[in-house]
Amino acid sequence: MKALYYNGSSAQYKEDAPMPVCEPGQSLIKILLANICNTDREILKGYRQDFRGIMGHEFVGEVVESPDQELVGKIVVGELNEGCGNCIYCRSGREKHCLSRKVIGMSKDGCFAEYMSLATHLIHPVPEGMRAEQAIFTEPLAAALEITKQVHIDPAMNAAVIGDGRLAYMIAQVLALTGIDLTVIGKHEEKLASFSPFAKTKLLKDYYEGEDLCDLTADECFEYVVEASGSESGFPLAMHLVRKMGTIILKSTYAGTANLNMSMIPVNEITVVGSRCGPFEPALKLLSEGKVSFPDVELYELKDYEKAFASHAFKAGFRF
Ligand SMILES: [Zn+2]
Ligand SMILES: [Zn+2]
Repeated sequence: MKALYYNGSSAQYKEDAPMPVCEPGQSLIKILLANICNTDREILKGYRQDFRGIMGHEFVGEVVESPDQELVGKIVVGELNEGCGNCIYCRSGREKHCLSRKVIGMSKDGCFAEYMSLATHLIHPVPEGMRAEQAIFTEPLAAALEITKQVHIDPAMNAAVIGDGRLAYMIAQVLALTGIDLTVIGKHEEKLASFSPFAKTKLLKDYYEGEDLCDLTADECFEYVVEASGSESGFPLAMHLVRKMGTIILKSTYAGTANLNMSMIPVNEITVVGSRCGPFEPALKLLSEGKVSFPDVELYELKDYEKAFASHAFKAGFRF
């Protein structure tokens, strides 16, 4: 089958990759669409140096073989983290934190291939009539929804999202649904324009040129600040923008280290919440009901992976 391998330093396209073999409890999925995530780009930069295997974790596919006969023939999406099923994390609903978990496209073969195997309990059928081109956003949207699972959002307060990329776009759409007074802070005027139907927008440079960050009034600060910029400067900015006793939610993962005045956290009694993968079912529901929507994916053939990875589209992916 066709597949895109990570060989420890770069991506490699193959047409003679062996078909995946299902272990007990796994299903075989024929991949229809697969999206490139920023994490895939980070892998090519060396984020997962020990990994050797097929890349990719965002997909829509059709189940062709499964211990659950009801799933066969269904169009599905799937979660990334396959836990051991036995440890305290797996037994207490924290499978994504299992120490011996396998993550598709990062520590086990992923979805940039014609077929992939996946633990059956991680598979979610796509609602009838929903386009694969929207269902493909389930995984990143679920990650945005994780915030509302972790933090009680008081819609009478205000919130800021730092960042104007894809992740920020999903998070902002989810927060906007609560009715909260929402501001998105970013570097790029043209990207910020796409947020204006559902959020106020502000250019990052206004904070660094016009106002002294230390002199912001309580009204200029935010009860909730979500850091989704993907850059090292995001967290220090969040510390200035958050109100006393407010909450910072950290969404971006990046390779660097931030230099921070940590005493602001106890003195201002700030809550800092780390946030990763989230619930699939509500994400599918929001997408199928059209309560959130995203620009169409720019689709490529797998062999044109270099063009796909270089794309500046909102999302680029592969059609099989
Ligand atoms: Zn992803
Ligand atoms: Zn486990």
